[in-house]
Amino acid sequence: MDVQDRLNGVNLSINKAVKQAEREEEAVDLIAVSKTFAAEDIRPVLDAGQRVFGENRVQESQGKWPELKNEFGGVELHLIGPLQSNKSADAVALFDVIHTVDREKIAKTLAVEMKSQGKDLPVYVQVNTGEEEQKAGVSPKEAVAFANRCRDVHGLNVVGLMCIPPFDENPGPHFALLGNLAREAGLEKLSMGMSSDYETAIAFGATSVRVGSAIFGSRG
Ligand SMILES: *Cc1c(COP(=O)(O)O)cnc(C)c1O
Repeated sequence: MDVQDRLNGVNLSINKAVKQAEREEEAVDLIAVSKTFAAEDIRPVLDAGQRVFGENRVQESQGKWPELKNEFGGVELHLIGPLQSNKSADAVALFDVIHTVDREKIAKTLAVEMKSQGKDLPVYVQVNTGEEEQKAGVSPKEAVAFANRCRDVHGLNVVGLMCIPPFDENPGPHFALLGNLAREAGLEKLSMGMSSDYETAIAFGATSVRVGSAIFGSRG
């Protein structure tokens, strides 16, 4: 199976999960997560028509995406990894959507950068639903207030919430929690679900799933 077959397979599974959940046909966007893969590995996925991609590192993305964005029209690049404030300017310059706003300082520097670059990128607040020590994200009990501050104090275009459930737990309750928090915050979008659990995430209302290895193969 080549990368285009795997992409088709993921799209079929997404459509099936959307139907099973009795959701609207176009309710879920696929973000193809191309981190660690080189431009030559990404090109076939672009050739197959995929235009929405996720990367977790600013510097790595700068090495491949300016060229790919030139070659292919309509690319939408999502930052799905933790952001350092000294990388905010570069992130705002290269990315179209940022999924990992999780502290005041990042909210503030992103807002300043967007203003100076004349951009108003959609952002997500990352929530650490499992309250794991090593994981990024605001705690569930702070999520709604923090999302409100990002919007009202910093003027960010907050569109939704994002989470990465603990890898050794049933993800369903984490996805349900994220959905409840988004409802409470009045936010419509949910960035949740990876290769191992995107069908489950769709059942719980995901609007974007972030799928890497099921498309590109294992990262070794
Ligand atoms: C790597 C990554 C993914 C994709 O993971 P796969 O298991 O390869 O699908 C999704 N979300 C985030 C935040 C990631 O870092």
